[in-house]
Amino acid sequence: MNDILNAEQATEILKRGFSRRALGRFATMITAGAALPFYNESAMAQLSMVKDIPADAVKINANENPLGPCPEAAEAIYSVVKKGGRYEYDITFNMAKTLAAIEGVKPEYVQPYAGSSEPLHTTVMAFASPTRSFVQGDPGYEAGGRAAKFVGAKVIAVPLTEDHAHDVKAMVAADSNAGVIYICNPNNPTGTLTKRSDIEWALANKPKGSILLLDEAYLHFSDATPTTDLVAQDKEIIVLRTFSKLFGMAGLRAGAAIGRPDLLAKMKSYSAGALPITGMVGADASLKVKTLVAERRKNMRAIRAETFDFLAKHNVKFIPSDSNCFMIDTKGPARQYMEAMAKEKVYVGRNWPSMPTWSRITVGTADEMKKFQAATKKVLA
Ligand code: PLP
Repeated sequence: MNDILNAEQATEILKRGFSRRALGRFATMITAGAALPFYNESAMAQLSMVKDIPADAVKINANENPLGPCPEAAEAIYSVVKKGGRYEYDITFNMAKTLAAIEGVKPEYVQPYAGSSEPLHTTVMAFASPTRSFVQGDPGYEAGGRAAKFVGAKVIAVPLTEDHAHDVKAMVAADSNAGVIYICNPNNPTGTLTKRSDIEWALANKPKGSILLLDEAYLHFSDATPTTDLVAQDKEIIVLRTFSKLFGMAGLRAGAAIGRPDLLAKMKSYSAGALPITGMVGADASLKVKTLVAERRKNMRAIRAETFDFLAKHNVKFIPSDSNCFMIDTKGPARQYMEAMAKEKVYVGRNWPSMPTWSRITVGTADEMKKFQAATKKVLA
Protein backbone atom coordinates (compact mmCIF):
# COMPACT_ATOMS: atom_id res chain seq x y z
CA MET A 1 0.00 0.00 0.00
CA ASN A 2 1.48 3.34 1.03
CA ASP A 3 2.31 5.31 4.16
CA ILE A 4 -1.25 6.50 4.52
CA LEU A 5 -3.20 3.28 4.01
CA ASN A 6 -1.38 0.41 5.67
CA ALA A 7 -2.23 -3.26 5.10
CA GLU A 8 -4.58 -3.38 8.08
CA GLN A 9 -6.49 -0.31 6.93
CA ALA A 10 -6.68 -1.63 3.38
CA THR A 11 -8.16 -4.92 4.63
CA GLU A 12 -10.67 -3.03 6.70
CA ILE A 13 -11.72 -0.94 3.69
CA LEU A 14 -12.16 -4.05 1.52
CA LYS A 15 -14.30 -5.61 4.26
CA ARG A 16 -16.58 -2.57 4.07
CA GLY A 17 -17.58 -3.56 0.55
CA PHE A 18 -15.19 -1.48 -1.56
CA SER A 19 -13.58 -2.96 -4.65
CA ARG A 20 -9.78 -3.24 -4.94
CA ARG A 21 -10.03 -0.72 -7.76
CA ALA A 22 -11.75 1.84 -5.51
CA LEU A 23 -9.16 1.25 -2.82
CA GLY A 24 -6.32 1.85 -5.26
CA ARG A 25 -8.00 5.04 -6.43
CA PHE A 26 -8.31 6.41 -2.87
CA ALA A 27 -4.72 5.50 -2.04
CA THR A 28 -3.36 7.18 -5.17
CA MET A 29 -5.34 10.35 -4.60
CA ILE A 30 -4.46 10.61 -0.94
CA THR A 31 -0.77 9.94 -1.54
CA ALA A 32 -0.69 12.61 -4.21
CA GLY A 33 -2.41 15.00 -1.79
CA ALA A 34 -4.93 15.44 -4.58
CA ALA A 35 -8.10 17.37 -4.04
CA LEU A 36 -10.89 14.84 -4.02
CA PRO A 37 -13.66 15.65 -6.50
CA PHE A 38 -15.99 17.05 -3.85
CA TYR A 39 -17.39 20.53 -3.66
CA ASN A 40 -17.71 23.03 -0.87
CA GLU A 41 -20.19 25.87 -0.51
CA SER A 42 -18.25 28.51 -2.39
CA ALA A 43 -17.57 26.11 -5.29
CA MET A 44 -21.26 25.31 -5.51
CA ALA A 45 -22.13 29.01 -5.38
CA GLN A 46 -19.67 29.66 -8.21
CA LEU A 47 -21.08 26.82 -10.27
CA SER A 48 -24.60 28.09 -9.90
CA MET A 49 -23.86 31.66 -10.90
CA VAL A 50 -21.98 33.46 -13.63
CA LYS A 51 -18.26 33.94 -13.10
CA ASP A 52 -16.47 37.30 -12.87
CA ILE A 53 -18.51 38.92 -10.13
CA PRO A 54 -17.79 42.68 -10.18
CA ALA A 55 -15.62 43.89 -7.28
CA ASP A 56 -18.32 46.26 -6.02
CA ALA A 57 -21.10 43.64 -6.11
CA VAL A 58 -22.96 42.47 -3.01
CA LYS A 59 -22.05 38.81 -2.45
CA ILE A 60 -24.66 37.14 -0.33
CA ASN A 61 -24.59 33.86 -2.22
CA ALA A 62 -22.16 31.60 -0.37
CA ASN A 63 -22.85 31.95 3.37
CA GLU A 64 -19.64 33.85 3.91
CA ASN A 65 -19.06 36.44 6.61
CA PRO A 66 -18.37 39.96 5.29
CA LEU A 67 -16.73 40.94 8.61
CA GLY A 68 -13.70 38.69 8.10
CA PRO A 69 -11.52 37.64 11.03
CA CYS A 70 -11.70 39.56 14.31
CA PRO A 71 -8.80 41.99 14.96
CA GLU A 72 -7.17 39.61 17.45
CA ALA A 73 -7.12 36.82 14.86
CA ALA A 74 -5.81 39.14 12.14
CA GLU A 75 -3.01 40.31 14.47
CA ALA A 76 -2.03 36.73 15.34
CA ILE A 77 -2.00 35.82 11.63
CA TYR A 78 0.24 38.77 10.69
CA SER A 79 2.76 37.84 13.30
CA VAL A 80 2.84 34.12 12.51
CA VAL A 81 3.54 34.67 8.81
CA LYS A 82 7.27 34.99 9.42
CA LYS A 83 7.32 31.50 10.92
CA GLY A 84 5.82 30.15 7.71
CA GLY A 85 9.04 28.34 6.78
CA ARG A 86 8.27 25.71 9.39
CA TYR A 87 5.38 23.31 9.95
CA GLU A 88 5.00 24.49 13.57
CA TYR A 89 2.75 21.62 14.66
CA ASP A 90 2.44 23.11 18.15
CA ILE A 91 0.26 25.90 16.77
CA THR A 92 -2.28 23.35 15.58
CA PHE A 93 -2.06 21.46 18.85
CA ASN A 94 -2.63 24.67 20.82
CA MET A 95 -5.78 25.39 18.80
CA ALA A 96 -7.04 21.88 19.56
CA LYS A 97 -6.34 22.41 23.28
CA THR A 98 -8.19 25.72 23.35
CA LEU A 99 -11.21 24.30 21.54
CA ALA A 100 -11.20 21.16 23.70
CA ALA A 101 -11.26 23.25 26.89
CA ILE A 102 -14.23 25.29 25.64
CA GLU A 103 -16.15 22.17 24.60
CA GLY A 104 -15.35 20.17 27.73
CA VAL A 105 -13.56 17.33 25.95
CA LYS A 106 -9.98 16.04 26.17
CA PRO A 107 -7.57 17.52 23.57
CA GLU A 108 -7.27 14.16 21.81
CA TYR A 109 -11.00 14.38 21.02
CA VAL A 110 -10.34 17.39 18.77
CA GLN A 111 -8.81 16.96 15.34
CA PRO A 112 -8.13 20.27 13.58
CA TYR A 113 -8.56 20.58 9.82
CA ALA A 114 -8.30 23.35 7.25
CA GLY A 115 -12.06 24.00 7.41
CA SER A 116 -14.85 21.51 7.93
CA SER A 117 -15.24 20.30 4.34
CA GLU A 118 -12.41 17.83 4.69
CA PRO A 119 -13.69 16.10 7.84
CA LEU A 120 -17.18 16.05 6.31
CA HIS A 121 -15.77 14.17 3.31
CA THR A 122 -13.53 11.89 5.35
CA THR A 123 -16.32 10.95 7.78
CA VAL A 124 -18.24 9.77 4.76
CA MET A 125 -15.22 7.89 3.39
CA ALA A 126 -14.60 6.25 6.74
CA PHE A 127 -18.14 5.26 7.67
CA ALA A 128 -20.21 5.05 4.46
CA SER A 129 -19.48 2.52 1.72
CA PRO A 130 -21.19 0.58 -1.07
CA THR A 131 -22.92 -1.41 1.67
CA ARG A 132 -23.59 1.41 4.17
CA SER A 133 -25.65 4.40 3.09
CA PHE A 134 -25.50 8.11 3.79
CA VAL A 135 -28.74 9.62 5.12
CA GLN A 136 -29.39 13.37 5.10
CA GLY A 137 -32.20 15.93 5.17
CA ASP A 138 -33.73 17.50 2.07
CA PRO A 139 -33.14 20.30 1.34
CA GLY A 140 -29.73 20.00 2.94
CA TYR A 141 -26.06 20.75 2.43
CA GLU A 142 -25.00 18.52 -0.44
CA ALA A 143 -21.25 18.07 0.11
CA GLY A 144 -21.58 14.90 2.20
CA GLY A 145 -23.91 13.33 -0.34
CA ARG A 146 -21.48 14.05 -3.13
CA ALA A 147 -18.68 12.39 -1.19
CA ALA A 148 -20.97 9.42 -0.56
CA LYS A 149 -21.69 9.07 -4.28
CA PHE A 150 -17.96 9.18 -4.98
CA VAL A 151 -17.34 6.22 -2.67
CA GLY A 152 -20.29 4.33 -4.14
CA ALA A 153 -22.56 4.71 -1.09
CA LYS A 154 -26.30 5.10 -1.51
CA VAL A 155 -27.53 8.60 -0.64
CA ILE A 156 -30.94 8.77 1.04
CA ALA A 157 -32.43 12.27 1.20
CA VAL A 158 -35.26 12.51 3.71
CA PRO A 159 -37.59 15.54 3.41
CA LEU A 160 -37.46 17.96 6.34
CA THR A 161 -40.55 18.19 8.54
CA GLU A 162 -43.14 20.91 7.95
CA ASP A 163 -41.27 23.27 10.26
CA HIS A 164 -38.02 22.50 8.40
CA ALA A 165 -36.39 20.40 11.11
CA HIS A 166 -34.68 17.09 10.35
CA ASP A 167 -37.24 14.29 10.43
CA VAL A 168 -35.11 12.13 12.71
CA LYS A 169 -37.66 9.31 12.94
CA ALA A 170 -37.80 8.99 9.13
CA MET A 171 -34.02 9.35 8.84
CA VAL A 172 -33.32 6.60 11.35
CA ALA A 173 -35.95 4.36 9.72
CA ALA A 174 -34.62 5.04 6.20
CA ASP A 175 -32.01 2.26 6.17
CA SER A 176 -31.23 -0.27 8.88
CA ASN A 177 -27.75 -0.47 7.39
CA ALA A 178 -26.97 3.24 7.27
CA GLY A 179 -23.32 4.18 7.72
CA VAL A 180 -23.69 7.91 8.37
CA ILE A 181 -26.71 9.93 9.49
CA TYR A 182 -25.98 13.57 8.78
CA ILE A 183 -27.73 16.37 10.66
CA CYS A 184 -26.81 19.96 9.94
CA ASN A 185 -27.88 22.20 12.82
CA PRO A 186 -28.87 24.91 12.00
CA ASN A 187 -29.56 23.48 8.57
CA ASN A 188 -28.09 24.82 5.36
CA PRO A 189 -29.98 26.12 3.33
CA THR A 190 -33.08 26.68 5.53
CA GLY A 191 -31.29 28.06 8.61
CA THR A 192 -33.70 26.07 10.78
CA LEU A 193 -33.05 24.07 13.94
CA THR A 194 -33.56 20.46 14.89
CA LYS A 195 -34.49 20.00 18.55
CA ARG A 196 -31.89 18.70 20.95
CA SER A 197 -34.30 15.96 22.08
CA ASP A 198 -34.59 14.78 18.45
CA ILE A 199 -30.82 14.68 18.07
CA GLU A 200 -30.56 12.63 21.25
CA TRP A 201 -33.31 10.35 19.98
CA ALA A 202 -31.46 9.82 16.69
CA LEU A 203 -28.27 9.00 18.58
CA ALA A 204 -30.03 6.49 20.82
CA ASN A 205 -31.95 4.80 17.99
CA LYS A 206 -29.66 4.95 14.94
CA PRO A 207 -28.69 1.70 13.24
CA LYS A 208 -25.94 -0.30 14.93
CA GLY A 209 -22.45 0.69 13.82
CA SER A 210 -23.56 3.93 12.17
CA ILE A 211 -22.23 7.37 13.00
CA LEU A 212 -24.29 10.45 13.77
CA LEU A 213 -22.55 13.33 12.01
CA LEU A 214 -23.54 16.68 13.49
CA ASP A 215 -22.54 19.58 11.27
CA GLU A 216 -22.48 22.64 13.53
CA ALA A 217 -21.03 25.07 10.95
CA TYR A 218 -23.72 27.66 11.81
CA LEU A 219 -24.23 26.78 15.48
CA HIS A 220 -22.81 30.05 16.82
CA PHE A 221 -25.47 32.11 15.07
CA SER A 222 -28.23 30.25 16.96
CA ASP A 223 -29.16 29.46 20.53
CA ALA A 224 -28.89 25.71 19.95
CA THR A 225 -26.99 23.71 22.55
CA PRO A 226 -23.75 22.27 21.22
CA THR A 227 -23.64 18.47 21.06
CA THR A 228 -20.03 18.14 22.14
CA ASP A 229 -21.22 16.94 25.56
CA LEU A 230 -22.41 13.80 23.76
CA VAL A 231 -18.90 13.41 22.37
CA ALA A 232 -17.51 13.70 25.91
CA GLN A 233 -19.79 10.77 26.81
CA ASP A 234 -18.00 8.67 24.16
CA LYS A 235 -21.08 8.24 21.97
CA GLU A 236 -20.91 7.41 18.25
CA ILE A 237 -21.19 11.03 17.21
CA ILE A 238 -18.80 13.28 15.31
CA VAL A 239 -19.30 17.02 15.56
CA LEU A 240 -17.96 19.32 12.85
CA ARG A 241 -17.00 22.92 13.50
CA THR A 242 -15.69 25.57 11.16
CA PHE A 243 -14.17 29.01 11.47
CA SER A 244 -15.61 29.94 8.06
CA LYS A 245 -18.91 31.30 9.33
CA LEU A 246 -19.29 33.39 12.51
CA PHE A 247 -15.50 33.67 12.86
CA GLY A 248 -15.16 35.06 9.30
CA MET A 249 -12.21 32.92 8.21
CA ALA A 250 -13.54 31.03 5.15
CA GLY A 251 -10.54 31.98 3.04
CA LEU A 252 -8.07 31.38 5.85
CA ARG A 253 -9.21 27.80 6.48
CA ALA A 254 -9.69 26.39 9.94
CA GLY A 255 -12.11 23.86 11.34
CA ALA A 256 -12.23 20.76 13.47
CA ALA A 257 -13.84 17.39 13.96
CA ILE A 258 -14.68 16.59 17.56
CA GLY A 259 -15.17 12.93 18.33
CA ARG A 260 -13.92 9.83 20.08
CA PRO A 261 -10.24 9.31 19.23
CA ASP A 262 -10.86 5.86 17.69
CA LEU A 263 -13.44 7.38 15.32
CA LEU A 264 -11.18 10.33 14.44
CA ALA A 265 -8.35 7.89 13.70
CA LYS A 266 -10.48 6.20 11.02
CA MET A 267 -11.03 9.52 9.29
CA LYS A 268 -7.38 10.47 9.45
CA SER A 269 -6.51 7.58 7.11
CA TYR A 270 -7.92 9.75 4.34
CA SER A 271 -6.03 12.96 5.10
CA ALA A 272 -2.55 14.07 4.26
CA GLY A 273 -0.34 17.02 5.04
CA ALA A 274 0.21 19.74 7.63
CA LEU A 275 -2.30 22.49 8.33
CA PRO A 276 -1.89 26.21 7.53
CA ILE A 277 -0.46 27.90 10.61
CA THR A 278 -2.22 31.12 9.62
CA GLY A 279 -5.63 29.46 9.89
CA MET A 280 -4.72 27.61 13.08
CA VAL A 281 -3.34 30.63 14.93
CA GLY A 282 -6.29 32.76 13.78
CA ALA A 283 -8.73 30.15 15.04
CA ASP A 284 -6.96 29.91 18.39
CA ALA A 285 -6.95 33.69 18.81
CA SER A 286 -10.65 33.93 17.85
CA LEU A 287 -11.63 31.33 20.44
CA LYS A 288 -9.86 33.33 23.13
CA VAL A 289 -11.97 36.45 22.50
CA LYS A 290 -14.70 35.69 25.00
CA THR A 291 -17.19 38.26 23.73
CA LEU A 292 -16.84 37.52 20.01
CA VAL A 293 -19.60 34.95 19.50
CA ALA A 294 -22.23 36.91 21.40
CA GLU A 295 -21.32 40.20 19.70
CA ARG A 296 -21.30 38.85 16.17
CA ARG A 297 -24.47 36.85 16.75
CA LYS A 298 -26.26 39.96 18.02
CA ASN A 299 -25.05 42.06 15.11
CA MET A 300 -26.14 39.48 12.51
CA ARG A 301 -29.52 39.01 14.18
CA ALA A 302 -30.29 42.73 14.15
CA ILE A 303 -29.60 42.90 10.41
CA ARG A 304 -31.60 39.73 9.80
CA ALA A 305 -34.58 41.04 11.80
CA GLU A 306 -34.54 44.27 9.80
CA THR A 307 -34.46 42.24 6.57
CA PHE A 308 -37.34 40.02 7.71
CA ASP A 309 -39.39 43.14 8.51
CA PHE A 310 -38.80 44.35 4.98
CA LEU A 311 -39.78 40.97 3.48
CA ALA A 312 -42.96 40.77 5.57
CA LYS A 313 -43.91 44.31 4.63
CA HIS A 314 -43.50 43.51 0.94
CA ASN A 315 -45.28 40.16 1.12
CA VAL A 316 -42.20 38.15 0.26
CA LYS A 317 -42.55 34.73 1.88
CA PHE A 318 -39.48 33.64 3.85
CA ILE A 319 -38.54 30.84 6.21
CA PRO A 320 -37.73 32.25 9.66
CA SER A 321 -34.14 31.29 10.30
CA ASP A 322 -31.78 30.81 13.25
CA SER A 323 -28.71 31.21 11.09
CA ASN A 324 -26.92 33.69 8.85
CA CYS A 325 -28.88 32.42 5.85
CA PHE A 326 -32.57 32.17 5.04
CA MET A 327 -34.75 31.24 2.09
CA ILE A 328 -37.24 33.41 0.23
CA ASP A 329 -39.98 32.34 -2.16
CA THR A 330 -39.36 34.11 -5.47
CA LYS A 331 -42.73 32.81 -6.79
CA GLY A 332 -41.11 31.71 -10.03
CA PRO A 333 -37.97 29.82 -10.99
CA ALA A 334 -35.39 30.95 -8.41
CA ARG A 335 -32.76 30.88 -11.13
CA GLN A 336 -34.54 33.77 -12.88
CA TYR A 337 -34.54 35.80 -9.68
CA MET A 338 -30.83 35.09 -9.18
CA GLU A 339 -30.01 36.25 -12.68
CA ALA A 340 -32.14 39.38 -12.39
CA MET A 341 -30.54 40.19 -9.02
CA ALA A 342 -27.06 39.71 -10.52
CA LYS A 343 -27.91 42.39 -13.07
CA GLU A 344 -28.50 44.67 -10.07
CA LYS A 345 -25.07 43.59 -8.80
CA VAL A 346 -26.54 41.62 -5.92
CA TYR A 347 -25.46 37.96 -6.00
CA VAL A 348 -27.93 35.81 -4.09
CA GLY A 349 -27.76 32.12 -3.34
CA ARG A 350 -28.82 29.08 -5.23
CA ASN A 351 -31.98 27.01 -5.03
CA TRP A 352 -32.45 23.33 -4.24
CA PRO A 353 -34.22 20.85 -6.54
CA SER A 354 -36.87 20.16 -3.89
CA MET A 355 -37.59 23.91 -3.52
CA PRO A 356 -37.21 25.27 -7.06
CA THR A 357 -38.80 28.67 -6.43
CA TRP A 358 -36.83 29.40 -3.26
CA SER A 359 -33.50 31.20 -3.20
CA ARG A 360 -31.06 31.11 -0.28
CA ILE A 361 -29.86 34.48 0.94
CA THR A 362 -26.89 35.06 3.23
CA VAL A 363 -27.12 37.85 5.80
CA GLY A 364 -24.51 40.44 4.80
CA THR A 365 -23.70 43.83 6.32
CA ALA A 366 -26.51 46.32 7.02
CA ASP A 367 -25.49 48.26 3.91
CA GLU A 368 -25.43 45.13 1.75
CA MET A 369 -28.89 44.12 2.97
CA LYS A 370 -30.24 47.56 2.05
CA LYS A 371 -28.98 46.93 -1.49
CA PHE A 372 -30.53 43.46 -1.38
CA GLN A 373 -33.85 45.01 -0.35
CA ALA A 374 -33.81 47.63 -3.11
CA ALA A 375 -32.91 45.06 -5.77
CA THR A 376 -35.47 42.50 -4.52
CA LYS A 377 -38.21 45.12 -4.52
CA LYS A 378 -37.39 45.96 -8.14
CA VAL A 379 -36.92 42.37 -9.35
CA LEU A 380 -39.98 40.84 -7.63
CA ALA A 381 -42.26 43.80 -8.47
N1 PLP B 1 -20.92 22.44 6.39
C1 PLP B 1 -21.86 23.30 6.00
C2 PLP B 1 -23.24 23.10 6.45
C3 PLP B 1 -21.54 24.37 5.18
O1 PLP B 1 -22.49 25.21 4.79
C4 PLP B 1 -20.20 24.53 4.78
C5 PLP B 1 -19.82 25.65 3.90
O2 PLP B 1 -20.56 26.52 3.59
C6 PLP B 1 -19.25 23.60 5.22
C7 PLP B 1 -19.65 22.57 6.03
C8 PLP B 1 -17.83 23.66 4.82
O3 PLP B 1 -17.22 24.86 4.96
P1 PLP B 1 -15.68 25.00 5.32
O4 PLP B 1 -14.92 23.93 4.63
O5 PLP B 1 -15.32 26.35 4.84
O6 PLP B 1 -15.59 24.84 6.79
